[in-house]
Amino acid sequence: MSQPPKSPSILSLYPEETREAADLLKQAVPLMMRHDIPPNPMHYALWYTYSKGLEPELNRRLDKTVKDFDSFPPETAAKLFRDYIIRGELEEARAGQQQVIELVDDIEGGISHSVTTSKAYQDSLNHGLSALQEPLIDDLPSVLNDLQQSTQLMQDQQEKFLYRLRSAQEEISHLRGQLERAHMAATLDSLTNVFNRHAFTRLLEQTLAAGHQGVALVMLDIDHFKQFNDQYGHPLGDRVLQHVGQLLRELLPPRAMAARYGGEEFCVILRDCTELETAHAFAEHLRLKIQALRVKVRRTDQILDTITASFGFALAEPGDNLESLLTRADDALYQAKRSGRNQVHPHLPEPALSA
Ligand code: GH3
Ligand code: MG
Ligand code: MG
Repeated sequence: MSQPPKSPSILSLYPEETREAADLLKQAVPLMMRHDIPPNPMHYALWYTYSKGLEPELNRRLDKTVKDFDSFPPETAAKLFRDYIIRGELEEARAGQQQVIELVDDIEGGISHSVTTSKAYQDSLNHGLSALQEPLIDDLPSVLNDLQQSTQLMQDQQEKFLYRLRSAQEEISHLRGQLERAHMAATLDSLTNVFNRHAFTRLLEQTLAAGHQGVALVMLDIDHFKQFNDQYGHPLGDRVLQHVGQLLRELLPPRAMAARYGGEEFCVILRDCTELETAHAFAEHLRLKIQALRVKVRRTDQILDTITASFGFALAEPGDNLESLLTRADDALYQAKRSGRNQVHPHLPEPALSA
């Protein structure tokens, strides 16, 4: 059976030497700056691939996007990233699933074959035994010979089946690894190791559609991060983002989920949270931990202690959808910024109108 051409895996897309990769980045970064595109890993990957000229269709679509829009819409970036950068991983996951199905079919075939052989063996054993109980057996050698042959056949079948089972087990553990890697690439943010925006929106949509009670959304945005990057450089900025990702992973309550929503913005979905105070306490704890972060400028050994973030949060209400809940948490975050940053603001429910 002929296989369709396979999209390259993300690992094989970027085989460049460091120097070559640096040259490609030198082309990609000015392009991103020219179009005012935030330097996040997803955008780097897209414009790096653009500079490489590996995917002419991607280049055409990027050209068209920056021509049609003044900004670079994050939804378009996420779609292009899925279609062109991690396509191979997604296909690999699908192919992996298909292989698992085929393996299970094969094992099932092996089991039913083995059952048929066992039945035949049982018949021949019964036949042999009743022949042996006859008072006069003139063909004893042939009965014994039949029995020996069917025993041998049974043994051969069992050995073949065992061999197939063992190789299927190896294949399954290999496929499991492949699926896990593909799943990670498709749902995790590679810089901060928390979920990416795509995984976040999918989970929040599902959670709200299922009508779960006690869902809260916390949004946080690092303060004056542009200035930080300008002063200390992007690599140190990236390190700060990694620290924040690590704090989120460490402090996440059970059943909560953290994601990088965009550049220097993160979201947390809290479950079992029916009180504003519970979400407030979590956000406040995280705020203090971020404020306590210390990062070292490697060039000068200077220790920086000025990293802060602002937080907004809202509790989900019946009938909320992704957009309405995000808007309320974002409004609260905006209030936190306006009130001087480095603080947590709730979105307070509208006061009921008195008659
Ligand atoms: P505010 O306190 O109002 O949030 O100010 P700000 O400077 O943090 O916000 P603004 O939206 O003006 O700038 C966000 C900055 O985040 C711009 C961009 O350089 C930086 N940024 C976004 N993604 C990344 C990234 O992946 N790595 C690094 N180092 N910086 C990033
Ligand atoms: Mg921001
Ligand atoms: Mg910011």
